[in-house]
Amino acid sequence: MAIRFDYHSHNWRCGHAAGELTDYIEAAKLLGLEEFGVSDHAPTFFKDGDDPAPGTTMAKSELAGYVEEALALKERYAGQITVKLGIEADFVEGSEDDYRRMLDTHPFDYALGSVHWVFGVNIFHRPRWETDDPEQTYREYYRLIVASVRSGMFDILAHPTAENRMGRPSVRLLRTNCTRRLPKRCGRPGWWSR
Ligand SMILES: [Zn+2]
Ligand SMILES: [Zn+2]
Repeated sequence: MAIRFDYHSHNWRCGHAAGELTDYIEAAKLLGLEEFGVSDHAPTFFKDGDDPAPGTTMAKSELAGYVEEALALKERYAGQITVKLGIEADFVEGSEDDYRRMLDTHPFDYALGSVHWVFGVNIFHRPRWETDDPEQTYREYYRLIVASVRSGMFDILAHPTAENRMGRPSVRLLRTNCTRRLPKRCGRPGWWSR
């Protein structure tokens, strides 16, 4: 039997969502979901400072409180809805060890892997699409998507076609990468969120 679930959610900590974890869990209950995963954005470990990417990821100092609160909610909602502790973590070449350490030292039920940073600029930063060569950006984006899967760090790809939001269809490129190298583990093309 199919299980109704949502494993990709954010809250006030990352700065591009609002509300508390409980708000989302209550909404999931209202929708009749059987499982709900909290998966806020992991801190930006590859930049200095406590909160180097406000509006994008949680501050480094928020991580412990996030995990603690989610674990408490797993217990509080037991018997009503299955709450899972997840995290959305960046894949950034050269910083894999920082993210691996975080994933290994917290009791996450799953990890969403995301490529947000391409040539050092966020994929959702709209002005880049006016100035950069889009073909180059796409190719690098998908190279990193494939590398993120091969890293073995993640259970799920959060938004493997995220750059679709910026206008150009790219399913052909993704399919090429998937069928050549990743027949089983690619996410569903066209499904995305930040
Ligand atoms: Zn994301
Ligand atoms: Zn997200």
